[in-house]
Amino acid sequence: MITEKPFFQNMSKPIEATIKNQWIVANRGTKNPVDSQKPYGWLIEKERTAEGAIEDTAIIFLTNRECPFHCLMCDLWKNTTDKSVPIGAIPNQIKGVLKQMPKVKHLKLYNSGSFFDKNAIAIADYEAIADLLSGFETVIVESHPKFIDEKVLGFKKLLKPELQVAIGLETVHPEMLKKLNKQMTLDDFEHSVNYLSQNGIKSRAFILLRTPFMSETEGIYWAKKSIDFAFNIGVECCTVIPVRAGNGAMDLLLQQGAFCLPNIQSLETVLEYGISLNNGRVFADIWDLEKFSNCQKCMEQKTIRLSKMNLTQQLTNHVNCTCEVV
Ligand code: SF4
Ligand SMILES: [Zn+2]
Repeated sequence: MITEKPFFQNMSKPIEATIKNQWIVANRGTKNPVDSQKPYGWLIEKERTAEGAIEDTAIIFLTNRECPFHCLMCDLWKNTTDKSVPIGAIPNQIKGVLKQMPKVKHLKLYNSGSFFDKNAIAIADYEAIADLLSGFETVIVESHPKFIDEKVLGFKKLLKPELQVAIGLETVHPEMLKKLNKQMTLDDFEHSVNYLSQNGIKSRAFILLRTPFMSETEGIYWAKKSIDFAFNIGVECCTVIPVRAGNGAMDLLLQQGAFCLPNIQSLETVLEYGISLNNGRVFADIWDLEKFSNCQKCMEQKTIRLSKMNLTQQLTNHVNCTCEVV
């Protein structure tokens, strides 16, 4: 239940009205130099599996053509190309990393957009990609609902490991979802999750904590509602992402007071809620957490707590600190 006045109602109409593709793109900085034959990064992190084990999961950040959508909060365009990469480039990128990477069971192939966007990952490369991935147990890719169709089933057919698909739900606040310029409705999201479930594919949801035009309380409220929605329609796992600035448009909204970074304490609250539902795994995104706290006293302990809760899916003792908002 929200008791304070909705933050977004206090905002001047013009800035909200200007949030369109052109405005978002016009406020961007320059892209980073990338090489179409090399991923722009890779790492290994621990993740709790649906079965309850804690196992190494690799993430390869593939270099490919920029996503055709321009979501307000997205900064993934920074490491993308303007044009589609040549056929064979994506398998080459994967091959290059697998040569250096220790053996792990699970792999996330994140491509700063949608794996099933054929202008990003060519269908002609599916077979070569699937061959390279035959040693994994699970492969997780990301996609916007607009690209979730029979291409997914075609790729699944070629793939030995289990395929899972992560989709950005962002928020179930319908007006905010529109303002994010995601070009997706909740029905689109639900339709995609159903389509994946009917074809034996598990889905994950990315959920934002405190989108622009929301107060801290609203941010928490809508992140919780978004977790409820995702689990109710059959999503298997949710990741809560505190919204960041850094893509130009978001920095502008930050300057104008239309957006504030969420607090680390709110991330703890939402993660506690999600885990306590016991409906599936809920993770907090803990990258760059120092952005969400000004308190040097508890920052490290809170980060440790969040990462412990991610791994155990159990609530751990609260870190009390004088900085906390009561
Ligand atoms: S769909 Fe995903 S990758 Fe594309 S702009 Fe939106 S958030 Fe970024
Ligand atoms: Zn503190």
